[in-house]
Amino acid sequence: MQYHEAEFLLSGAQQSQWPSENLPEAVFAGRSNAGKSSLINALVNRKNLAYAGSTPGKTRLLNFYRIDQRMIFTDAPGYGYAKDNRSSAETFAKLMDPYFHHRANLKAMVLVADGRRKPNQDDILMCDYARQSHLAIIVVMTKCDKLSHSAMIANKRIIASELGISESQIFPCDSLKKQGTEELFARIEEVLLQ
Ligand code: GDP
Repeated sequence: MQYHEAEFLLSGAQQSQWPSENLPEAVFAGRSNAGKSSLINALVNRKNLAYAGSTPGKTRLLNFYRIDQRMIFTDAPGYGYAKDNRSSAETFAKLMDPYFHHRANLKAMVLVADGRRKPNQDDILMCDYARQSHLAIIVVMTKCDKLSHSAMIANKRIIASELGISESQIFPCDSLKKQGTEELFARIEEVLLQ
């Protein structure tokens, strides 16, 4: 397991609060409970770097981390929780719109999706956002330890088709046993640092 240095920079909402570092950046987005915090922690081999979705006060902000002193990973709030109402969708859009439009060093979106589920409308919208902002798209299928190999292959095909991406952009992972995370990290580095 490769060592990665991960440093929490700050939590912020408005543009004035974003970190001034001009390092290539990837934003991690996904439905609540998709496994986004577990994935970020697994990627950098830390237990509690990224907060679980329920941590009060952190859920409506962008959390910025500097990785290996040469990239930034941004953790976006989880979206589409079942009891979400329209106003929380609006809050999410208010937070994310300026970020997608004005964060010049943002290069990639890592869309975190439960590997057992079909993408929903919110996931499709996030991919559209990424395309409009000319970001590279990397999709992570989480919780693949709960899938047989053949089910994972079948779901990968469905996810690619629903999101309009190529299967080569999809990375199956198990964050608990850290399977697939090194390949994913290498891909993110390739996209950000090339
Ligand atoms: P978030 O809301 O997207 O940040 O999701 P969390 O990372 O908090 O994960 C939600 C739940 O899924 C937790 O109970 C995790 O332990 C579990 N989980 C996350 N990733 C995996 C995985 O790869 N495999 C398994 N089996 N469970 C996972």
